[in-house]
Amino acid sequence: MAKTMFIDTTKCMACRGCEVACKNWNDLEADIQPFNGSYQTKEDFATQTYTVVKMTEVVNNGRVDWIFGKRQCMHCTEAACIMVCPKNAIKRSPQGAVWIDHDLCIGCGYCVQNCPFGVPKLDTVNHKSTKCNLCVSRIENGLTPMCAKTCPPGAIMFGERQDMEVAAHKRLAVVKRTHPNATIYGNEEAGGTVLYILTEDPSVYGLPPHGTQVPWQVKFWQNFARPIGNIALGGTLVLLLVAAWFNYVQKPKEPPVHVEGGVK
Ligand code: SF4
Ligand code: SF4
Ligand code: SF4
Repeated sequence: MAKTMFIDTTKCMACRGCEVACKNWNDLEADIQPFNGSYQTKEDFATQTYTVVKMTEVVNNGRVDWIFGKRQCMHCTEAACIMVCPKNAIKRSPQGAVWIDHDLCIGCGYCVQNCPFGVPKLDTVNHKSTKCNLCVSRIENGLTPMCAKTCPPGAIMFGERQDMEVAAHKRLAVVKRTHPNATIYGNEEAGGTVLYILTEDPSVYGLPPHGTQVPWQVKFWQNFARPIGNIALGGTLVLLLVAAWFNYVQKPKEPPVHVEGGVK
């Protein structure tokens, strides 16, 4: 049931077809970002940009390598964005897609502040948070996410988690012949819904270091502070209701005031 997207950065040729396909399927507008002297089209995710192909030049033994890496939401199995959302607006589908229900999102921006991968962006006009949804409407119907379906060299694969794990390890063995430092990224860091083969340090691809975990403060908020806060809030409401009952229902009626000529 659980699916995995396996992104083999060594096969990516930076055509950016995935960026276009994502915008097409998700009905996202083109957002023109300033030219910064690089071939990279987008500097970062934006409210209308759910996926970005990072391009970085790296010097290896005097040779310049051009490194490409498609970035998107990692669809973490232990997702900080889900943990901090006060409206439970971020959901996980049975296949593993972490998606934002825009009917519930109030645009508080907590997910934006707490995602270790810098993925969600806040639409300050509509007060909604936005990000890659793993094409949840497609995968729920047995289809492949648009970026994976589009990728010409097959750098993005999508399938059953176990199959993708096997494919990633097989490919790693091949890649290591030419890139001995190559690694698999995404299992330890995000639970394996999105897996990468990297030949360089994660920072080259705009990813946090290997072993990045959800900060303890986020877990503390999810597991202790929020439940205790909810109990305290519930208790306060009950006390307020009881106090109101005593004040207005049980309050003894004031005796009538006798005045000359009748009772007021
Ligand atoms: S990468 Fe960020 S936005 Fe995506 S599931 Fe993980 S915590 Fe949430
Ligand atoms: S999975 Fe869908 S929403 Fe996410 S980057 Fe790919 S095309 Fe865009
Ligand atoms: S479509 Fe595939 S090859 Fe083209 S940029 Fe995206 S990941 Fe790379």
